[in-house]
Amino acid sequence: MPNREIHLASRPQGWPTAENFRLVETAVPGAADGQLVVRNLVMSVDPYMRGRMNDVRSYVPPFRLDAPLDGGAVGEVVESRAAGFAPGDVVAHRLGWREYALLDAADARKVDPTLAPVNAYLSVLGMTGMTAYAGLLEVAGMRPGETVFVSAAAGAVGSLVGQIARLRGAARVVGSAGSPAKVARLRELGFDAAFDYHDAPVAESLAAAAPDGVDVYFDNVGGDHLEAAIGALRPHGRAAICGMIAQYNATEPPPGPRNLAMVIGKQLTLRGFLVLSYEHLREQFVQEMSGWLRDGRLRYDETVVDGLAQAPEAFIGLLRGENLGKMLVRL
Ligand code: NDP
Repeated sequence: MPNREIHLASRPQGWPTAENFRLVETAVPGAADGQLVVRNLVMSVDPYMRGRMNDVRSYVPPFRLDAPLDGGAVGEVVESRAAGFAPGDVVAHRLGWREYALLDAADARKVDPTLAPVNAYLSVLGMTGMTAYAGLLEVAGMRPGETVFVSAAAGAVGSLVGQIARLRGAARVVGSAGSPAKVARLRELGFDAAFDYHDAPVAESLAAAAPDGVDVYFDNVGGDHLEAAIGALRPHGRAAICGMIAQYNATEPPPGPRNLAMVIGKQLTLRGFLVLSYEHLREQFVQEMSGWLRDGRLRYDETVVDGLAQAPEAFIGLLRGENLGKMLVRL
């Protein structure tokens, strides 16, 4: 049986291109004791993967050249030599970017496709949902009655941050995004105000959207968004520093926020975080989010690209903002 996988052919300098990736045909491996073979149904492309394409040690090791990329995926077990797993089971795991994955059973988590569509385990009920939930509620400690600003607000994490803020009693929720269509979608999702960051300097648009300032900033972008948020945060405001996508393809070290000294006078907290440190919230996260989904109070968008061969383009498209909600590749 043939298998196909995407390898990293070369490390991108600046923006990635299709030439940095290679589609490789291999054979489907057989399972040894304690292992599973999984036919992937859907895989995730995520901004953090850009960092792993550089040869730099971080909280996760860099991708290896001429080896398959990896990342979140959901698939169906086709062969099991592990207790507790049978063909037909649907599992979430970390070996995306390939059609068939050979996994140690310990690295697979069973998911229930009757409770939610399989894609949801990579978005609203998966890593990006958890990032939104943990970042807003635990890292930033959002309280009812507060004003929240989130950047990349029409993306996978951002669109959930805004809605969770509403559901947990925020007084005002403001989002920024990169197109008029995305801004319109944010209003439909219940954001009180939204702006296209291309229209005017972010600081200006934010001042108009939140004239009394903000208590919580959820940063997905960095750069001018972070600088504007530091300016808009009220005394004792908090920022959850989740991502800085504006600089992921930078070839020179980007400048820091010019108004950083304001953190002193306003006694601000800027707190970086990694979702993987918040596993202790998983049960509460799944319960609360699936409750809101069942009631129709939480909505999520997906942009689905078809076929493994299109995965590099889906990834590059994500960095360019071609996605509404979670960018996924159906295999
Ligand atoms: P998104 O679905 O939000 O997709 C990325 C979006 O970023 C694009 O759609 C684009 O939307 C926007 N964007 C790209 N370049 C810029 C720019 N220069 N300025 C402003 N916006 C830009 O991705 P995710 O929801 O998966 O991730 C959001 C952020 O969260 C990322 O920074 C990611 O690295 C981070 N993250 C961090 C985690 C953690 O544990 N700390 C875990 C998961 C994600 P637009 O059209 O609006 O520009």
